[in-house]
Amino acid sequence: MFKLFNSFSSSIEDFVPFEKNLVKVFICGPTVYDYTHLGHARIFLTYDLLARCLNDQGLETDILVNMTDINQNVFNKAKENSTTYQDIAKFYATAFVNDLETLHIQSINRLAYVSDYVSNMEKQIHTLIQKQVAYMAHGNVYLDISKVKNYGKISHQTKEQLSLHRLDIGPGKKNPEDIMLWNCTDDFDFSWKSELGEGIPWWHMQDTAVAMENFGKNYDIHGGARELLYPHHEAHLAQYQLLSGSDVPVKTWVHVGLVLSGGEKMSKSLGNVVWVRDLIKTYDQNLIRLYIFSKHYRDDIDFSEKDLLAKKPLMDLIQLAKSRVSDNTNEDISKLIHNFIQSLHDDLDTPMALDTLEKICIEVKNGKGINQNDFNRICEILGIIP
Ligand SMILES: [Zn+2]
Repeated sequence: MFKLFNSFSSSIEDFVPFEKNLVKVFICGPTVYDYTHLGHARIFLTYDLLARCLNDQGLETDILVNMTDINQNVFNKAKENSTTYQDIAKFYATAFVNDLETLHIQSINRLAYVSDYVSNMEKQIHTLIQKQVAYMAHGNVYLDISKVKNYGKISHQTKEQLSLHRLDIGPGKKNPEDIMLWNCTDDFDFSWKSELGEGIPWWHMQDTAVAMENFGKNYDIHGGARELLYPHHEAHLAQYQLLSGSDVPVKTWVHVGLVLSGGEKMSKSLGNVVWVRDLIKTYDQNLIRLYIFSKHYRDDIDFSEKDLLAKKPLMDLIQLAKSRVSDNTNEDISKLIHNFIQSLHDDLDTPMALDTLEKICIEVKNGKGINQNDFNRICEILGIIP
């Protein structure tokens, strides 16, 4: 049985999709105003591995990534370049897709620009107002979180802890932690005319509209960086529950740890950003994968080139094993392959799986056989092309 840590229950659970053979996954995608850094790439490498593990078990995956193009940073970049937000979004979305391709991430089958879904957002906001769980205040629309059952459940906060947050500040809010759905008051370079007033749909609502339009009332996995837990995923879950009528519209919430650089969060102002497009000029995608997978996906990684290079001997062993592929797989190696797969089924325990892979390669080096199918299966799951 495939097991995953579910942030909602804070426990490792047996993963059973809503539909028998299909796993629907929504991943919070990039805000398309800059290139992809290693922290972003780690998220997509993790879901690519997850998809490959599920595909290996005969399950199909349907992976949707939203491209956030309604965002002040995108608008600013458009203004700086005297162009439209669509041009900026298209440019950086293309760069994002190229970066994923260089990392051999092949499992994402749907990309959705959130600006294509504004009418869905408007309809959903109207529905929430009709249900009397959302309200207008001085032109903005907010979700009244006091009307949401189990609010705080995914970020594991009590009512008292939630009440300390001051979100989306504006006049007339009923509770300080209420979530903005539609913003009419701030000055934006691009805005949408609506019965709600001319403005922009707010971030959390964008995901809800994209996910619901593509997946309907429920889907299996929602993923993204751990830092998105609150308020983003808490708000998305609340909105989805209210709109779908289901208490559990998303089965499993999977969050990926950060990639730090020099012990700090990557940021342009600190000058410590590791861009994928630069990294790939020096290091092979196989090595980057082995490096990222050498840490458990829920742990943070502090990036170091020394640690990345430390995966080179393993890659060399994999290459050696490739050159020694034979007609049959030795019984001991079959057992190790079984362990390798089991480790990945245990909440994607990649450090353990890579240890086992090293043992497999050493056994092959010492003369034990592995056949082409078994060798290919391992590489296919890890997304490695030796
Ligand atoms: Zn998101």
